[in-house]
Amino acid sequence: MTVTVANLDGSPEPLPDAAVDGLRTQLRGQLVVSVASDEAPTHPRPAWNPMHADHPAITVRCAGTADVVDAVNFARDHGLLVAVRGGGHSVAGLSTVHDGMLIDLSAMRGVQVDPQRRLARVQGGAVLGDVDRETQVFGLATPLGRVSDTGVAGLTLGGGYGHLGGKYGLSCDNVVEAEVVCADGQVRTASADSHPDLYWAIRGGGGNFGVVTSFTFRLHPVGPIVGFAGVFYPLEDIAEVIRGWRNYVVTAPDEVTAFVVSLTFPAVPDMPEVIHDRQVAIVVAVHCGEPDAGMQVLQPLRELGTPLFDMSQPMPYTVLQSSFDPFFPRQALRAYWKSTYLDALTDDAVDTISRKALDRPAPLTVVGTFHLGGAVHAVGAEDTAFSERSAPFMVSVDTNWTDPAQDAAAVAWGRAAWEEISKYGNGNVFLNFTGLADESLLSHVDKAFGRNLRRLGQIKAAYDPGNLFRINNNIIPAP
Ligand SMILES: Cc1cc2nc3c(=O)[nH]c(=O)nc-3n(C[C@H](O)[C@H](O)[C@H](O)COP(=O)(O)OP(=O)(O)OC[C@H]3O[C@@H](n4cnc5c(N)ncnc54)[C@H](O)[C@@H]3O)c2cc1C
Repeated sequence: MTVTVANLDGSPEPLPDAAVDGLRTQLRGQLVVSVASDEAPTHPRPAWNPMHADHPAITVRCAGTADVVDAVNFARDHGLLVAVRGGGHSVAGLSTVHDGMLIDLSAMRGVQVDPQRRLARVQGGAVLGDVDRETQVFGLATPLGRVSDTGVAGLTLGGGYGHLGGKYGLSCDNVVEAEVVCADGQVRTASADSHPDLYWAIRGGGGNFGVVTSFTFRLHPVGPIVGFAGVFYPLEDIAEVIRGWRNYVVTAPDEVTAFVVSLTFPAVPDMPEVIHDRQVAIVVAVHCGEPDAGMQVLQPLRELGTPLFDMSQPMPYTVLQSSFDPFFPRQALRAYWKSTYLDALTDDAVDTISRKALDRPAPLTVVGTFHLGGAVHAVGAEDTAFSERSAPFMVSVDTNWTDPAQDAAAVAWGRAAWEEISKYGNGNVFLNFTGLADESLLSHVDKAFGRNLRRLGQIKAAYDPGNLFRINNNIIPAP
């Protein structure tokens, strides 16, 4: 039966049987064909956010770089609408495609650690937990995000904030080399010495420049135990808590990375009943140096008010790195996220954040306030594609809910909350935290890249002139 796949214009493109068979026989991985547009193939790594249609007509489940090369060549030669999936955690659905082609890297999750040189080579489909597990064998780590199931690739290509940011910077700041399959099917090594323009662009410019089949990360001595503060305050006290937290973080050492989140804590049996189904403001902070000294440094965060529960303690780094997993299950939460950077966290901004936190539409909707600084700010705004290197705070409005009937109301709430809080922002947003409903793939790109957008457009024109890789925070090739 002839396979029909959406082309770059979204129109159905019948593919010659011989071409499809040819691709299938070349692959070491698998070619999965879904004939009816309403029949979604079961995916080994489904998209995290179920709000986005995830019905690829053909999926290449790549086993290695050669499969990625063949998939890219096939997509380009047939002019197909193509999405690339690493971890599938894009809240905006940027690794989903309707009736197009999916290049799926979920089977490519190898991690090789070189403890002597303090480097880890990580395949493009690995999730964060894969990396932490292997690097912690040697007491090493690289900065990654806060949920172990998030993909390394999408997170890193978009920057990557996590618990080690203050001391060791963004995930993308720790990439020393990447292997990239570009739109012409060529495999390029991107590093300071090899295709330096591509190396610059992939550190923050997203999946615009090709499929990254591996990253080489710089590693740092971390753990196995780190200092951890996890303090649950009543949500009614959030304004006071954020003010106290703000006054603490601005003078805290770089070893400390901290944020405050509000949510309704679920009735998790292992946790005390006093926080079951209770609205809470949780102060979370990590000190990545010597753990006992770290606990002393973190002590003031435990005294910002009267906690309902305080789980602060020295903690294994790998436990820390998966401790938020239960709140963000794959395919379970419908989600629409928006963020804004703030040059100052004024009392008025704190009051607005607090008001929105007290007015969340669903239990697992999260309003988070993050402190940024240290190593993240030590990199210049034009040194990498990731340009936001000075704002000390970011607020993320993570509207999460479960009932599809609530979609319109929840998205409207998220937008309104974001707009109110953004009045205190500097106009910039974090592209890894964008949720798209009816917005275009281009929304926010100009603000997020600022002065770097022009150069990104030129590099896009050099490596992907036909904009094959367009399902992302899209950079238009410069004319
Ligand atoms: C529960 C949750 C927690 C999160 N926590 C954090 C956090 O702590 N810190 C943070 O910075 N962000 C965080 N994020 C945001 C996350 O970093 C982004 O959503 C990121 O895009 C996810 O990457 P992925 O590979 O899982 O996503 P995917 O959905 O697979 O891909 C996202 C984008 O990256 C592209 N892409 C993926 N793999 C490749 C590749 N190998 N080569 C080229 N392009 C590729 C895709 O085409 C798509 O455009 C979180 C998201 C969720 C849902």
